[in-house]
Amino acid sequence: MKKLIAGNWKMNGTLAANEALLSALAQGLAVKPACEIAVCVPAPYLAQVLNMKTEHANLDMVEVGAQDVSKQTSGAFTGEVSAVMLKDLGCRYAIVGHSERRQYHGETDVLVADKARAALVSGITPIVCVGETLAEREAGLTEEVVKRQLAAVIHVNGHCISEIVLAYEPVWAIGTGKTASPQEAQTVHAVLRAQLKAATEHFAGVKILYGGSMNAANAVTLLMQADIDGGLVGGASLKATDFLAIIAAAHENGQIQKN
Ligand code: PEP
Repeated sequence: MKKLIAGNWKMNGTLAANEALLSALAQGLAVKPACEIAVCVPAPYLAQVLNMKTEHANLDMVEVGAQDVSKQTSGAFTGEVSAVMLKDLGCRYAIVGHSERRQYHGETDVLVADKARAALVSGITPIVCVGETLAEREAGLTEEVVKRQLAAVIHVNGHCISEIVLAYEPVWAIGTGKTASPQEAQTVHAVLRAQLKAATEHFAGVKILYGGSMNAANAVTLLMQADIDGGLVGGASLKATDFLAIIAAAHENGQIQKN
C-alpha cells in the first residue's frame, strides 16, 4: 500500500505564508513521489489551497483536508463546518479526534465516532486520531486507551471502518520533540491492526499513520515498520523543506516496496 504523508497545519498560516509554502511544495514535487500527500489546513484557507491546486500542476497530487468536521449535516449549529460543505469545496479528508480537540474542546470517543460517520456519509475520508497521554502510558494503559478510542469508532461505523484512515498519535509526542521509538509505535500499530481485523475483512487496506514529532531524520525508520503506513505531520509540515524531506523518505520506502 502507498504511504500517506498528511500535514496538519493546525492554527497556523496567512494567505501570504500559505502561498509561499505551497509554491515551494509545488517546486519540490516536480518528480511525482511514490506516496500519497495531503495537507489539512485551517477552514478559512481551504478555498485558497484548493484554488492553488488548480494553478500548479505539481499540486494536483496533494489532497486537501480540514482539521475537524461537524457531526451535523446542516442547520442551526453556529460555527460548525459540515462534511457536506467540505465535499462541496473539493476536500478529500477531515481530521477527527485530534488530541488537541479531545483535550481543549472536550471531544469524547462517541462524538469523535459520530464525526467520523458524518464524514464517511458525505464522501470525506476521516483521519481518526487515537493516542494515550504520558500518564496513561506510564500507568501501562496505552493499549487499553487506544483500543477504547478505536472501538467507539468501529461501533458507530460498522463495516465502513475500512474507509477510514487511522492515526496513532501518542499525546506526549505531539509538538514536544519526543517521538515514540519505531518499535514502540509499531507495537501499538499492530494492536490497532488486529482490532481492525476483527471488525472488517478489509483491515489490511486501512492506512494507519504515525503522528508525533515526525521529522526528516526519524521518518525513515518509522516508515519502515510493517504497520506504519504514513505520517500525520504537524510542525514539520509548515516548512516546505522539512515536509518534502518526509515525503522523500516515504518515496524511498515506496521504491523499496516495489522492488
Ligand atoms: C499533529 O499535530 O498531529 C502532530 C503530529 O504534531 P507534531 O508533528 O508537531 O508533533
